[in-house]
Amino acid sequence: MARDSHETQGNALASLKLGSTIAARQLKYSLLLAVVLGLVIIAIRGYQDYKWLDGVYHQANQRIISSSVPVATQVLVKRDRELADVLARGMLNNRSIARVTLTNAQDGIFFELKRPAGEISTSHWAEKMFGGLQTITVPVRDPDRTPVSTIGEMIIDLNPQVYVNAYTTRLSWSFLATMVLAATMAMCFAAMSYYVFSRPVIRLGNYIVNSDPTDVSRPLQMPPEHRHDDEVQLLGSVTVGLFGTIRQQLGQLRRARDELQNANVTLEERVKQRTQELNEAMGKLEVLASTDPLTELPNRRAYLGRLEEAISIWRRRDTPVSVILLDIDRFKALNDTYGHQAGDAVLVSLAETLRKTLRTIDLPARMGGEEFAVLLPGEELEGAMIVAERLRKELEASSVDYEGNTLSFTSSFGVSGLPSTQGMAELDPDVAKQFEALRSSERADISGILYSLADRALYDAKTTGRNRCKLADFKTLCELKDLFPSDV
Ligand code: GH3
Ligand code: MG
Ligand code: MG
Repeated sequence: MARDSHETQGNALASLKLGSTIAARQLKYSLLLAVVLGLVIIAIRGYQDYKWLDGVYHQANQRIISSSVPVATQVLVKRDRELADVLARGMLNNRSIARVTLTNAQDGIFFELKRPAGEISTSHWAEKMFGGLQTITVPVRDPDRTPVSTIGEMIIDLNPQVYVNAYTTRLSWSFLATMVLAATMAMCFAAMSYYVFSRPVIRLGNYIVNSDPTDVSRPLQMPPEHRHDDEVQLLGSVTVGLFGTIRQQLGQLRRARDELQNANVTLEERVKQRTQELNEAMGKLEVLASTDPLTELPNRRAYLGRLEEAISIWRRRDTPVSVILLDIDRFKALNDTYGHQAGDAVLVSLAETLRKTLRTIDLPARMGGEEFAVLLPGEELEGAMIVAERLRKELEASSVDYEGNTLSFTSSFGVSGLPSTQGMAELDPDVAKQFEALRSSERADISGILYSLADRALYDAKTTGRNRCKLADFKTLCELKDLFPSDV
């Protein structure tokens, strides 16, 4: 998962193209600055132009008037209309003069010439900038008369619209030139600042974005070459140093992770092995704890366990169960005569005979010393007596060869058990009642009772001559007060 998010981030970074945004922004702000500067320059230049044109306008008017007055005097003195026409046309060549009128003191208007109507219109700007339409009246005097007297007037109508037009044209060209110059300068400045400042930073940025210090399959790339010993170069050196540290730390982390994984695997294997060993040991222990080491028959513990199960089945399902207790006759004498090991060989032989003779579901067990028991699940007392008798005969017939001696022996048997309801029907009704009471008693030690009854029967067999089988006397059941409490 962590790796996935790392890859997604890497892909997102790889698709990122640095540079275009910075360059565009640089150009935008350079242009903005250039336009503002250009407008300021145009404003200053425009004002200067206006002042200059205003001066030119007034000086030109003065010059024309002063140069025209002597000719106007000639015209009025001589009443020369031709000269008046030449004078007026000459003055109208100046496009700011709209009309020239010469008046005579006696006759009024002597001569008048004006520009055709509509040739040069006037505008609001002419009014604002140069005072608009004006009329200048210049008195004409005859210098030859004494005293000097006014003989007429020269009236000139002025229209400064041509100056407005000239000004507008100049301003337009000035604006255009300034703007072109400003834009060119802005682009040059943007390009220069991009190449000098932004490009090295962008190249370093792209290097950082495209580098993957965690990919150990590729060697670590060096930062792009930068000829100047400045902050960009320092940043590049610091970055490559950091990448190196990251790669080194990552290598250490990966090694530690691998070691941990290996240790985990080893630990798991060892735990598995130990668990298996433990289970095996517990199995062996279980077998040891429930097996007699000499005869390899189940011991008293195992026997009692199986007996409790059989008793519980008798209680719940009325399945009969019988037990046979057997003891070797005069075993002490055998030991004494042939030695303890000979006695052991007899015990082993007896166990073998039991195993051989009994059914698979029957359980022979060594109870201790030379005393054995056989658990017969599902067997009524009658059947158990038959089995005991068969065993007795088998053992009597068997012999053990030990160090050149053939050892024979006999055994005595006591039989007890828990008959089914059907089996009880064949018993004394009082005894059957005792069994029913036993079945419903919670406190009775049934396995102890069975043992005691079988032991008594065994004792009976011993005392009546040995090498025989005796059935328990169930009438003595009520005598077993300890094992069969009185509440029953
Ligand atoms: P009885 O017919 O009345 O049973 O006489 P007995 O001699 O068999 O009975 P007793 O209880 O007097 O003697 C039992 C003997 O069994 C005593 C003991 O030395 C012997 N014995 C007990 N356990 C072992 C054993 O594991 N190996 C050998 N060889 N002898 C054992
Ligand atoms: Mg004994
Ligand atoms: Mg004995």
